[in-house]
Amino acid sequence: MKALVAVKRVVDHNVRVRIKADGSGVDTAGVKMSINPFDEIAVEEALRLKERGLVSEIVAVTLGEATSQDVLRHALAMGVDRVILVETATELQPLGVAKLLKAVAEREAPQLVLLGKQAIDDDAGQVGQMLAALLGTAQGTFASKIDIENGEAIVVREVEGGTETVALKLPAVITADLRLAEPRFVKLPNLMMAKKKPIETLAADSLGVDFAPRVARTAAAEPPVRAAGIKVGSVAELVQKLREAKVI
Ligand SMILES: Cc1cc2nc3c(=O)[nH]c(=O)nc-3n(C[C@H](O)[C@H](O)[C@H](O)COP(=O)(O)OP(=O)(O)OC[C@H]3O[C@@H](n4cnc5c(N)ncnc54)[C@H](O)[C@@H]3O)c2cc1C
Repeated sequence: MKALVAVKRVVDHNVRVRIKADGSGVDTAGVKMSINPFDEIAVEEALRLKERGLVSEIVAVTLGEATSQDVLRHALAMGVDRVILVETATELQPLGVAKLLKAVAEREAPQLVLLGKQAIDDDAGQVGQMLAALLGTAQGTFASKIDIENGEAIVVREVEGGTETVALKLPAVITADLRLAEPRFVKLPNLMMAKKKPIETLAADSLGVDFAPRVARTAAAEPPVRAAGIKVGSVAELVQKLREAKVI
């Protein structure tokens, strides 16, 4: 059974995001970029399914500019079998990503498509759901556990205040939540070996898909700066300050 995993290049989660001076978006110039953390979890889970003999081949795909090759190299170093770059300089929005991933899924015919539950840059949380709808397949979102039994994917989903278990007919789209798997440490020799592996590149324009942006960002802003805290000398002073702040 083949698994296709979508991996996105995003600003590294340790970087403090800065907004461009003109407020048009996030400033990524000179900023460290990495694989989206939820996508790294999805890759890890695919590798574990392969180690359990439930998956035979793992293909990772990313969409974007040639610079996105680095997240494919990371996936190769983790252990995926093949990688595909769908290359475009056009800004990609969730619907466009879902349409392009659909085109790749139709070429690859995977039984499982794994994605992150969200990308930590745009915070839309839409691609997995839209991809399943476009493909006409079952979807298991916010997965914290995956099993394959009798031709079905058994997915434990993180829901408000607990979990829900669903059985999905294959092929299916599954999005990874934080607790699904802890990504393995990538060793330097694996990274070096990954540099020599081929990356299949497809021009996004060749896939017959309209992925033009449909939403214009009109403004981006940093969160308001919080006022500095103060130290109080006694409980009585604390109570007085809370009263002054009309909190009690
Ligand atoms: C008001 C608000 C409240 C929120 N509340 C919560 C909350 O309660 N809990 C919570 O967990 N999050 C919350 N979020 C976070 C938010 O849901 C996610 O950060 C968001 O889903 C990421 O969106 P996206 O469009 O970047 O990616 P998505 O469309 O979500 O992308 C999902 C997946 O698609 C694939 N993908 C996307 N682009 C590419 C690409 N170029 N190449 C290859 N693969 C790709 C990746 O596998 C990616 O992980 C909140 C956000 C907001 C704004």
